[in-house]
Amino acid sequence: MLALDPALQPVYDEVVSRNPGDTEFHQAVLEVFESLAPVVAKHPEYADAAIMQRLVEPERQLIFRVPWVDDAGCVQLNRGFRVQFNSALGPFKGGLRFHPSVNVGIIKFLGFEQTFKNALTGMPIGGGKGGADFDPKGKSDAEVMRFCQSYMTELHRHIGEHTDVPAGDIGVGGREIGYLFGQYKRLTNRYESGVLTGKGIGWGGSLVRREATGYGAVFFVDEMLRRHGQSLEGKRVVVSGSGNVALYAIEKAHQLGATVVACSDSGGYVVDARGIDLELLTDIKTVRRGRISQYADERGGAVSYVAGGSIWDVPCYIALPCATQNELDDRGARALASNGAQVVAEGANMPTTPAGVRVLREAGILFAPGKAVNAGGVATSALEMQQNASRDSWSFEHTEQRLAEIMRQIHDRCLETAEEYGVPDDYVAGANIAGVTQVADAMLALGVV
Ligand code: NAP
Repeated sequence: MLALDPALQPVYDEVVSRNPGDTEFHQAVLEVFESLAPVVAKHPEYADAAIMQRLVEPERQLIFRVPWVDDAGCVQLNRGFRVQFNSALGPFKGGLRFHPSVNVGIIKFLGFEQTFKNALTGMPIGGGKGGADFDPKGKSDAEVMRFCQSYMTELHRHIGEHTDVPAGDIGVGGREIGYLFGQYKRLTNRYESGVLTGKGIGWGGSLVRREATGYGAVFFVDEMLRRHGQSLEGKRVVVSGSGNVALYAIEKAHQLGATVVACSDSGGYVVDARGIDLELLTDIKTVRRGRISQYADERGGAVSYVAGGSIWDVPCYIALPCATQNELDDRGARALASNGAQVVAEGANMPTTPAGVRVLREAGILFAPGKAVNAGGVATSALEMQQNASRDSWSFEHTEQRLAEIMRQIHDRCLETAEEYGVPDDYVAGANIAGVTQVADAMLALGVV
């Protein structure tokens, strides 16, 4: 751990003591605070208004019971969450995660990150996050629907197009957003398209929203490479995960001339030197909701499947962690470095551990953080909100072009901010400082609220 600025250390200590056990939240706050010494020096007005103390305290945290009935007629119980972190820039905005590992600390870390990511997009959206410790894996569509209806029966009181606008995340895709929206509409008697994003194309969704996070991550990498006189053409890429972000990162990487040779799920990883067959992978993971091991069985040829193990052992030029938090540790980072990786860009939220980041930096690997790299998803959600508000729908090409422009702007803003604050080329510091100062300035303007 780096030494924190003396003004920030007590704030961080208080985060730890007031949020006992929320280790991912502590980690996320520390990672941001480690970048903020130049901000403390340049903006004494933030201290006068207790901005840092207020930034780490969510505006509102909701925890609720979610009872539902399974296909056997038995009552099941889960815990639901929504953390409305910061609304200085606009309505709370951030996804819902359904995964058995979800707890309030994970939702707080995600909401905190989301606040600065949303600021980086330049769109008028605050930060929030939610979810439940529900596991959609192995559940029937009817069970998922009943769970979503029960979850929304509580959540609907707290959201709205001008209040809080949820979307998908791990375990929440088009199917879940459909069931959630259906229940919201029924309870409120309003067809309020702007209350959720990630909707289906026929009923208020935006083209490119599904692809946006993965595509955006690759657009960001393309900008990083361009700055060094390179491109994705011919590069060997490893992508962890095989969910929404991973699938579309693979698609865009292939479109731009790279070859993605490995991807994974929580059971293991596959290596396919010819390049991942996206059609087969998408069919297995999204249509059949199957496992990555099936890919090796069905693809044939020289594809290997490694159960468990670390995908970071697979040699590559570019690594895109796109699964979950803390999936790339110092051991994985060392393996990447010793195999000659040159770029790591985070498609997932906080996938690299602090020790992993240190190893990557020491090895001179170009590293960019999730709050910048994966911001294309929420940015396109904001484009979906714009289309809903104006009752318009844009073409795929137009929306993708907007996404590419936004990713370029985020990339440049990270570097310009890093330069301005005396830490040139540091994407982590640039993203943290640009996000924090934008939110902080809005909070100053809005007074003590
Ligand atoms: P998803 O569609 O549910 O896919 C998640 C993928 O990660 C799956 O392949 C899953 O494997 C794997 N995974 C999940 N938990 C894991 C664990 N504990 N260990 C190993 N693998 C695990 O979710 P997603 O939307 O792609 O989200 C992936 C990451 O991107 C998350 O960090 C999310 O917060 C972030 N993100 C998503 C969006 C978005 O628009 N969706 C936007 C910004 C950031 P299994 O199927 O085996 O569980």
